[in-house]
Amino acid sequence: MSVEYREEPCRSALNRVQGMGFKWSLNPYMGCVHRCTFCYVRAFELRADRPPDDRYGTSIRVKTNIADVLRKELARPSWQREPIALGAATDPYQPAEGRYKLSRACIEVVGRSGSPLRIITRGPMIVRDIDVLVEASQRADISITFSIPTLDVDIWRKTEPGTAPPQQRLRALKELVDAGVHVGVGMAPILPGLSDKPELMEDVVRAARAAGATGVWANLLYLKPGTKEHYLRALERDWPELLPEYERLYARKAYLDATEVRAEVRALANKHGIRDRRRVKLRPPAEPEQLTLAV
Ligand code: SF4
Repeated sequence: MSVEYREEPCRSALNRVQGMGFKWSLNPYMGCVHRCTFCYVRAFELRADRPPDDRYGTSIRVKTNIADVLRKELARPSWQREPIALGAATDPYQPAEGRYKLSRACIEVVGRSGSPLRIITRGPMIVRDIDVLVEASQRADISITFSIPTLDVDIWRKTEPGTAPPQQRLRALKELVDAGVHVGVGMAPILPGLSDKPELMEDVVRAARAAGATGVWANLLYLKPGTKEHYLRALERDWPELLPEYERLYARKAYLDATEVRAEVRALANKHGIRDRRRVKLRPPAEPEQLTLAV
């Protein structure tokens, strides 16, 4: 598959978001070559009049100046140090990051500002930036979530055609946790009839515990228009026997009730003793740095 990279500077770095656990999102890239069949961003693409189908992930916008713009935005007196999410609408550690290092530069900028940062990724390349993550974690509340919905090789290969193997993510997680960085596992999306089998979910939780994950959570697949058509087409190709059940489950709604799956994963996390076991817990100073320096 050939990928086009469009170097297009941005005017603003932070986007305001509603109804999430963070107030701002930060995306150095638009589009994602990982091309997961279930990618929720396909729904945004459809709303923005861009193709959510097989063309998604073949043209990546690279916001070459994003770190400079971000630095200016975080220096404004009006900036309240609200939580920022890096990677809410694209993977910040997709292959382009190897060359452009924009996520790395953004982490440095956010770290210096003392603002809380939540990073979500499927990319083990993040280990490259262990130095800036360690430094930023000493100045600001930084946490990373590795998305690892399953360790099943067949499900991973068919649903995440462009990502690194889940075991590589676990190795990266271990390296970061051993360095004192806060890193958990997000089992999302759990796919009905596939990765929701109890033994498969337990495999992930057990491996997350072995790697030292500080926490684990789960969510079920949701299918909004744009994602739904693409996912169901891929399902028909790879697991045609599941198609009627999905059509029934998602006939009238995009979201399923995830209470049971979440409770199951919580119980597994308790069973395997997942908690923050870091030997070194990197944390920002109790007082804002500026005040400390001013004393
Ligand atoms: S890694 Fe994330 S953003 Fe990229 S295609 Fe997969 S779900 Fe979408």
